[in-house]
Amino acid sequence: MKKSSKSFLVLAAASLFAAGLIFAGDAPANKAGGCCTKAAKNGQTCAHPCCVEAAKAGNNCTKCGGSGKIVKADKK
Ligand SMILES: [Zn+2]
Ligand SMILES: [Zn+2]
Repeated sequence: MKKSSKSFLVLAAASLFAAGLIFAGDAPANKAGGCCTKAAKNGQTCAHPCCVEAAKAGNNCTKCGGSGKIVKADKK
């Protein structure tokens, strides 16, 4: 069964690659731009068009110094 063991290796390599991607995706900090952080402190969302657009996609505005995805702090 050389064929199946080969496909197993491919699968193993693929999952290792995927795990590496997840790790790589985890590394960068999720950071909001200064203007957005300021607005959030006041209990508001940033009104900059660029930030609003980025927020729609679930991202922090990179134009304003943000990076990564918006992490919503769950308030109960
Ligand atoms: Zn902003
Ligand atoms: Zn912005």
